[in-house]
Amino acid sequence: MLSKLLSRKECAECRICCCFDSSDIWETPIIDSITQQKVKSINPNQEFLDFENNKNSKLLKLKKQLDEDLYYCTLLDKNIGCKLGAEKPFDCRIWPFRVLKLDSRLVVGLSPVCPVVAKRPVEQVAEVARELAPMIFEYAKKNPDIVKEYKPEYTILVVDDF
Ligand code: SF4
Ligand code: SF4
Repeated sequence: MLSKLLSRKECAECRICCCFDSSDIWETPIIDSITQQKVKSINPNQEFLDFENNKNSKLLKLKKQLDEDLYYCTLLDKNIGCKLGAEKPFDCRIWPFRVLKLDSRLVVGLSPVCPVVAKRPVEQVAEVARELAPMIFEYAKKNPDIVKEYKPEYTILVVDDF
């Protein structure tokens, strides 16, 4: 979805956003009910964690690496990337954009974590965010579990005008 900002090659050499530590494990993607079925078809043994008592949204249960504060996404294949391909969770499809709640408004924010997009001109990044914003806000309103609280490290790119 963000092919104007990121190439497959750049992501293949990075994979930062498919690995978490205890400080950012809250960033693991929200898995909606359709995606849960796809995950189960890939790995019937995959376990899920409840997300805020919401019956439809789950989180992947990830295993901590031995002797390291690292949790690799169970859907990451080091050779082919995400096993879900184009059907990866919405959070991952729009990353490093995030839908954030700032006061009572929804905004599209840019995470500082992605090293590739961080090097792109801000105006180019903002232009892509503006193009995608109607679709992103529409999805977020139907699936409010993907909305995170605003944090100052995120650059605000688009504010919802409703
Ligand atoms: S952090 Fe950015 S460059 Fe790295 S894999 Fe994720 S989207 Fe790609
Ligand atoms: S679901 Fe796919 S894209 Fe998302 S964190 Fe896991 S491996 Fe990465």
